[in-house]
Amino acid sequence: MPCTSLPGRMSLTVVGSIAFDAIQTPFGERRRALGGSATHFSLAASFFTEVRPVGPVGDDFGPAEYEVLRRHGVSTDDIEHVEGGRTFFWSGEYAWDLNTAKTLDTQLNVFGDFEPKLSEASRNCDLLFLANIQPDLQRDVRAQCRRAQVAALDSMNFWIEKTRDSLLQTIGLVDMVLMNDAELRMLTEEPNLVKAAGTVRAMGPRVVIAKQGEYGAALFTEDGFFALPAYPLETVRDPTGAGDSFAGGLLGYLDSQGGSIDDATLRRAMVYGSTLASFWVEEFGCERAEGLTRDDIDERYEHFKRITAIESVPAG
Ligand code: AMP
Repeated sequence: MPCTSLPGRMSLTVVGSIAFDAIQTPFGERRRALGGSATHFSLAASFFTEVRPVGPVGDDFGPAEYEVLRRHGVSTDDIEHVEGGRTFFWSGEYAWDLNTAKTLDTQLNVFGDFEPKLSEASRNCDLLFLANIQPDLQRDVRAQCRRAQVAALDSMNFWIEKTRDSLLQTIGLVDMVLMNDAELRMLTEEPNLVKAAGTVRAMGPRVVIAKQGEYGAALFTEDGFFALPAYPLETVRDPTGAGDSFAGGLLGYLDSQGGSIDDATLRRAMVYGSTLASFWVEEFGCERAEGLTRDDIDERYEHFKRITAIESVPAG
């Protein structure tokens, strides 16, 4: 069951793409799947907390798409409908190596001249996720969410290539960076991942998480290092959204724990993030969110800890 809003509860705002995706993998295809970084993130985080995605959509984003979000208790108040516009569109394909998406097309559409105007509830969030989108927009939203005690950021090669200086400025304003390992290397021009994480931490963020696809994820903090494999799955159909559902599970869990980012809580959050990502890749786009329950998630979380023998994950 999705979380419902309770008085006094923490809240989580996310800015990122809200999209239609055309996806091809060796196991099938979708021509028009609901996607976007903010969408995957919000649906995954909805199992832990109240979440508010911020972003524009066009006329092609209809009641069916809003309904998917609302069914999961995701607030749609800050989704702005741009009259006459078209929703962000991404098209990508994966070969047998499902770790690497080949982008075939990216159409920014309504994101081209989007100026985020956040509702009071979104501005007053406790945790903020700047999901993958133009870094100028990420910074704009960061500036509006003054009360946020933890701000985290994701990005990708597209923005590193096109808007590197802006992205570096945004990184200087956040507490946590979650990026693919290849993109951390690309951003820092540093082939060694430990050094690359150190370079990003020297820019300001206290926490760096390197996402490593089917190999898992690694956490770098001042005092600690924690590496987690991916949950062993026999069926993977579509990796789209794995990174964002990982982030949604991780930040959603942190939010449900009062926003604490000590090493012990972060390690548990890593396991929850990986658990959410493992469900996501079993079906195309965000289809696996349908019918998923918090009990399913907790059951796999416990199994995951058992089979990986993670003694270092404290109870809680
Ligand atoms: P991931 O979790 O990394 O697989 O991200 C998947 C989502 O990223 C897809 O649903 C796409 O709509 C979205 N996406 C792809 N390229 C971009 C981009 N350049 N900016 C923002 N979002 C993107």
